Amino acid sequence: MHKDDRLAKPFDVPDFSESGPIEFTTRHRCVDCEILSPRVETNHTLISSRYGWRLHREVSFATGDTTYEWRCPNCWTLFRTNRTSS
Ligand SMILES: [Zn+2]
Repeated sequence: MHKDDRLAKPFDVPDFSESGPIEFTTRHRCVDCEILSPRVETNHTLISSRYGWRLHREVSFATGDTTYEWRCPNCWTLFRTNRTSS
């Protein structure tokens, strides 16, 4: 019954444009602690204050590739702390 979980990519973001709601039911996996996100209908639900997940866009200087990293609320707090405290 959890086959989908194992096959799911770490993060799967087809389109994160600002234009309108995105119909999307895939669960995301936190890149740090690897827990699965709640199953939600849109990414906007996941990043709302109700769930507190965050989508971080990382652009590689070497290749210019863009990757998306989902983080659960706890890992996002740590991530942001590590980035801003130096
Ligand atoms: Zn996490």
